[in-house]
Amino acid sequence: MRSVVWTLGLVLLLANCRSNVLERRTVLLMDTYVTVQACGPRAAAKQAIQAALKRLEEIDQRFSAHDSLSPVYRFNCEERPLEDSEVVALVQAAVEVSEATGGAFDVTVEPLVRLWGFYGEHPAVPGQSVIDSVMKHVGSRNLVFENGRVRKLDPNARIDLGGIAKGYALAQAAQAMRHAGVDSGLIDAGGDVYAFGRRAGRAWRVGVRSPRGDSMVGVLEVRNLAVVTSGDYERFFVSGESRYCHIIDPRTGWPAQGVASVTAVARDPALADAWATAGFVLGPDVVELAARHGVEMLVLTDRMERFASSGFDRLDVRHPESDTGPRGARRTRKTGCPG
Ligand code: ADP
Ligand code: MG
Repeated sequence: MRSVVWTLGLVLLLANCRSNVLERRTVLLMDTYVTVQACGPRAAAKQAIQAALKRLEEIDQRFSAHDSLSPVYRFNCEERPLEDSEVVALVQAAVEVSEATGGAFDVTVEPLVRLWGFYGEHPAVPGQSVIDSVMKHVGSRNLVFENGRVRKLDPNARIDLGGIAKGYALAQAAQAMRHAGVDSGLIDAGGDVYAFGRRAGRAWRVGVRSPRGDSMVGVLEVRNLAVVTSGDYERFFVSGESRYCHIIDPRTGWPAQGVASVTAVARDPALADAWATAGFVLGPDVVELAARHGVEMLVLTDRMERFASSGFDRLDVRHPESDTGPRGARRTRKTGCPG
């Protein structure tokens, strides 16, 4: 009886190996290179990649603060409330992260990002009195949710979902892939990653890039998890002795200082994205707070000091205390996709 079960298992395993492939495509989208990998029967994998890319394009347009046809743009420029249910839901999720982070993450930061010139080609340090006057329009207290819509209390309030929309896009792309019939895949949007299922029977591996140079500061084994990084190297300018980056502390009106990169790991990619941005503002203190909200984190300061939650270290195969560390590496049988 046992040998029959073994033989059957082997036959199923071989059948799986034959029919499953790993399809991959890279395109320029959302201002970055996006790579989508899908593991499954060839036709389903191809279809899943197409579905994911279509969904990413849709989200890119719908959540853009610069596309004059987007609900976000219209909300910012007109007096009418925001009605698009998908955008309203993400604004709601963003406000929840604002509350959990004491306002370090805040999508109403738009007027400050604009003032510092980060939407254009020539960012510069503004005068303190202008910062003070713009600050009056910043704060999620200026947004009210009623009957599934968002209304502005302050007509000069504006939102920018740039700190959370990419994460949301990863979640939606993964969902589109699952609907297309694949149960394993990875979406990498310029280093922000969501991986689901297993690749060749093992968890997907995601490298965490050093904010200074090309080396890796960690290699995470993830399954159904997002790994999202906010770094000071993405958009910044130097003025005098200081380096100013595109993440603004909404509580002071000045770009966040002292952190080089924050990597957040969470089940929900939108949450990971928002917390990575918040972590950039809050610095190393964020690690414990985030863990209490189900987000594991690595913070590297601009002096390259390392602060990580124990949950983060457990995922890092290079970390001595990781579950699957190099010496005690857990090996799983190779099934499914090649590679
Ligand atoms: P990136 O998208 O460059 O990888 P982030 O996810 O950290 O990086 O998002 C940064 C973007 O979020 C900025 O370009 C800006 O649009 C917006 N932003 C800046 N500061 C904040 C903040 N404190 N809270 C929420 N969003 C912010
Ligand atoms: Mg973010």
